[in-house]
Amino acid sequence: MSDFINESKIFSILESSVNPDKGEVREILSKARECKGITLEETGKLLYLEDKELLEELYEAAKYVKDRIYGKRVVLFAPLYTGNKCVNNCLYCGFRRDNKQLHRRTLEIDEIVNEAKAIERQGHKRILLICGEHPKTDVKHFTKAMEAIYKATDIRRINIEAAPMKVEDYRELKQAGIGTYVIFQETYHRETYKKMHPVGIKADYDWRITAIDRAFEGGIDDVGVGALFGLYDYRFEVLGLLMHCRHFEERFGVGPHTISVPRLRPALGWGLDKIPYPVTDEDFKKIVAIYRVSVPYTGMILSTRERAEFRDELLSLGISQISAGSKTNPGGYEENDDHADQFEISDSRSLPKVIETICDKGYIPSFCTACYRRCRTGEHFMEYAKEGEIHEFCQPNAILTFKENLIDYGNDVLRQKGELIIQKALEEIEDEHMRVETLKKLKQIEEGKRDLYF
Ligand code: SAM
Ligand code: SF4
Repeated sequence: MSDFINESKIFSILESSVNPDKGEVREILSKARECKGITLEETGKLLYLEDKELLEELYEAAKYVKDRIYGKRVVLFAPLYTGNKCVNNCLYCGFRRDNKQLHRRTLEIDEIVNEAKAIERQGHKRILLICGEHPKTDVKHFTKAMEAIYKATDIRRINIEAAPMKVEDYRELKQAGIGTYVIFQETYHRETYKKMHPVGIKADYDWRITAIDRAFEGGIDDVGVGALFGLYDYRFEVLGLLMHCRHFEERFGVGPHTISVPRLRPALGWGLDKIPYPVTDEDFKKIVAIYRVSVPYTGMILSTRERAEFRDELLSLGISQISAGSKTNPGGYEENDDHADQFEISDSRSLPKVIETICDKGYIPSFCTACYRRCRTGEHFMEYAKEGEIHEFCQPNAILTFKENLIDYGNDVLRQKGELIIQKALEEIEDEHMRVETLKKLKQIEEGKRDLYF
């Protein structure tokens, strides 16, 4: 049995964190502003913040950390569901095997390529392959899909969110060019996990919690984690996830590349009658801000599970990557089928609309995939990120990839807004040499040259 999620330690931290002292909270927040992270005990105290004034101070600290490390960039991607057949029966999921209302389908490779092309036509460069756990969607399904997509499209980074695999399977994914391997533990609380996953391979908590260890062993050094909020007490989940991150740092010398923050949504044919531990918007904001200050160097991903205006608000608190124009059913970009969705989407804006809002808020959309292509992943990425250099380094790439996007997919309104944001982002590059280089490359992109990232 895996032992790196120490439940009794989590409960004891939580017990001693109730009603945190104002002075102590302020000390923690001032430490957080050093951008070096905080201890689990300190995170525990922040999780019990209720005082409005202190909450505002937490949000300010999170904004500061986000700005200092990530700047104004927002990376965009789209999920591509390749199949919704599943051997598991996770009570919260529309794909669970007992859901008889669901139209089941596994896409053939040419259908996957068509979906990738449809996503590319929206303007995306980065996709996330997702599916249920099923013999039809095994490792070969993913490697063939990746090979075909990289060959037939200009998609530059393919991430995968899939059920746990064996070390040799992860090795194959690495060889086929996976970007980030993403897997959510769902809940770090064993008893709740058992209740939510009554049958199937996923019933085994330990097989799932050790998946990322095997991914590392198979050579994948770029991984993403997440807890599904709504299944159990969010405070427990945040500490559980951070403990999971500590384990990677101790064992492999590197933390996760990203943390996702999925919040449970109703799903057609799910096996629950209500959300067991509802998380309010205020709590959700707190979670995002606390992750941001606890692990400042880890990217944070928000999906279309959240409403448009709320997503916009969360950007300033620490989210660095969002999906846009998403569909959650296999084949969804080419055709609509409400009876094949995994869960209900809350933000159905198109990618151009999301880009426009990002610009209106003073952020710069980024379609950069350079980290992966230039081997700046895992440990190497952390070196950049931990130093805060990621800001200087990724800003030019955001500018250049956004410029490409505007040229290839922009309309008049977007181009006008986008150029203003690009100018502002250029001015923010402090290093003179870097700014001049970026300007040069911008001109080259205007002349039709491509792939000029650092
Ligand atoms: N089947 C694989 C697995 O379970 O690891 C791949 C990922 S599954 C298709 C994607 C994720 O969606 C799950 O890990 C879960 O956290 C999330 N999910 C499932 N049902 C959901 C719901 N009703 N609302 C929000 N997220 C949900
Ligand atoms: Fe299957 Fe994943 Fe949904 Fe569970 S969460 S039912 S494993 S698709």
